[in-house]
Amino acid sequence: MSEAKILPILIAPDRRLKQRARPVTEADRAEIERLIPDLFATMYAAPGIGLAAPQVGIGLRLAVIDLRPEERPAPIVLVNPKVVAASAELATHEEGCLSLPNQYADVTRPARVKVAYTDEKGHERTLEAEGLLAACLQHEIDHLDGILFIDHLSPLKRNMILRRLAKEQRLKAAS
Ligand SMILES: [Zn+2]
Repeated sequence: MSEAKILPILIAPDRRLKQRARPVTEADRAEIERLIPDLFATMYAAPGIGLAAPQVGIGLRLAVIDLRPEERPAPIVLVNPKVVAASAELATHEEGCLSLPNQYADVTRPARVKVAYTDEKGHERTLEAEGLLAACLQHEIDHLDGILFIDHLSPLKRNMILRRLAKEQRLKAAS
């Protein structure tokens, strides 16, 4: 097995982050088997708790999550994930995103979700989640539809974050 690579992460407002990813098919199996270790390596190095394939410029419905409860690895691979049920009750979490470095905002979403997906071995699975995992699952699935967490905010708040990010990226490029 080859060494996992750390991939460059696209930064908003990169247009590729706004595109809808296509479903993973059997023909993609070799590619996703290569890609999954790279996604984890990239996410852990950032560090982050979730990363979707479109964030590294790959338009496939694939994401990885690891909330590392109690500092222990708990990797989840989501192939073609879909929210199949969501609670009417809402919850608010502060969210950030590796494609919007250093930007955080409160996002309100369903408090509990049930997600259907295929794992890395091709087995169909479902996961019921609440709390941070529920928010993280919805955040990553949003990426597959070209939606960023700032798209859940008011236009005013969204533009403020995008302007601040652009300014920080310019300063970073200049230094
Ligand atoms: Zn994100």
